[in-house]
Amino acid sequence: MIADGLMGEEHRIFRDTVRRFVEEELLPHREEWEAAGTVPPEVWRKAGAAGLLACDLPEEYGGFGGDFLHSVIVTEEMTRAGGGGPAFSGHSDIVVPYIARFGTEEQKRKWLPKMASGEVIGAIAMTEPSAGSDLQAMRTTARRDGDHYVIKGQKVFISNGQQAHLVVLACKTDPAPRGKGISLLLVETDRPGFSRGRMLKKIGRKAQDTVELFFDEVRVPCSNLLGQENRGFYHLMELLVQERLSSCVRGMAMTWRALEWTIDYVKEREAFGKKVSEFQNTQFELADLWSSALVHNAFLEHCIAKHLKGQLTTVEAAAAKLRITELEGQVIDRCLQFFGGWGYIWDYPIARAYADARVDRISAGSNHILKLIIGRDLLKQ
Ligand SMILES: Cc1cc2nc3c(=O)[nH]c(=O)nc-3n(C[C@H](O)[C@H](O)[C@H](O)COP(=O)(O)OP(=O)(O)OC[C@H]3O[C@@H](n4cnc5c(N)ncnc54)[C@H](O)[C@@H]3O)c2cc1C
Repeated sequence: MIADGLMGEEHRIFRDTVRRFVEEELLPHREEWEAAGTVPPEVWRKAGAAGLLACDLPEEYGGFGGDFLHSVIVTEEMTRAGGGGPAFSGHSDIVVPYIARFGTEEQKRKWLPKMASGEVIGAIAMTEPSAGSDLQAMRTTARRDGDHYVIKGQKVFISNGQQAHLVVLACKTDPAPRGKGISLLLVETDRPGFSRGRMLKKIGRKAQDTVELFFDEVRVPCSNLLGQENRGFYHLMELLVQERLSSCVRGMAMTWRALEWTIDYVKEREAFGKKVSEFQNTQFELADLWSSALVHNAFLEHCIAKHLKGQLTTVEAAAAKLRITELEGQVIDRCLQFFGGWGYIWDYPIARAYADARVDRISAGSNHILKLIIGRDLLKQ
């Protein structure tokens, strides 16, 4: 288990609750939700009632006062079950923290309890058709008109975008170049002028809705500004540390699961009159992958411990996300090979994992961009 050394009895009890929820409420519906491309809203409310959403919120904002380790458990257990279910992590570990960290007291009281209960589903909208890695090139604008902002623009690849009731939107509030004029606005999705585009057909994570969002003169009151005006880019950078750490948790959990599935399979499967596990190649390959997983897990545990103390740096989070998601891809690919043709068939969890995991090297900062962040820091004068 990831970060097991950091967890106490209370975390272990929580793990049992989460595992039961995943087995009873998520797994039986997976095929149906993958076909629909999304999950029904009541799943969110059930997850909220079971304490699986926004675990680290204090009680006064509707949480149960857990910590990031509770989120780690939710992600780990959902991944352990094969992954690909609802995008709870995007809501709990990315969107909620923006409001908890930068929201006014009024914004926190208005939104956080409903986000913890699953009544309100959140999305974060940064990426645009022409601004992904280069976020500072975004074109969506919000101009001031009296005590309102008027938003115009478009976003793409937004997780939970189809279901979201509330979007944390990054947009330009000042034409100042690059990141300087970016702000974050809270946009309720029932406002006139807001619309959702088609659900994008992905190669994996098929039960998670990912959509385009359109803003055609959407008016929001200035009280919907989240954090400081024109400081949005810096707010985004601050919280990317946790977003990247969450990707690491998912990547590591998937790595361990792929190894478990493969170890079980090679002990059963026979070729040339022997179990596949008896070939030296199998033993060497699995020893190689398992020992790499152990080393990466230790670094992840170190990063989680630092994050719990608020000390994880941007560069460490980038390094962890780069290495762990690269390992995840490598392990799943090499494990899949041991399943032969069955590894290519969707019914086998390793096939699903192969498709689901690919995005971990692209989202939350593509791994190329993470190398830039690390390289620049290493070589700064
Ligand atoms: C399933 C899914 C869910 C997502 N969810 C969200 C979400 O909820 N909210 C949101 O805002 N976004 C979301 N994204 C978007 C995601 O964050 C972007 O796809 C990612 O940041 C990359 O941007 P891009 O797709 O525009 O690629 P581009 O920026 O066009 O990059 C194309 C290629 O060029 C490389 N590249 C770019 N710049 C450099 C450089 N300077 N040096 C070297 N290489 C470079 C990239 O690494 C990549 O390989 C999601 C994406 C997917 C696929």
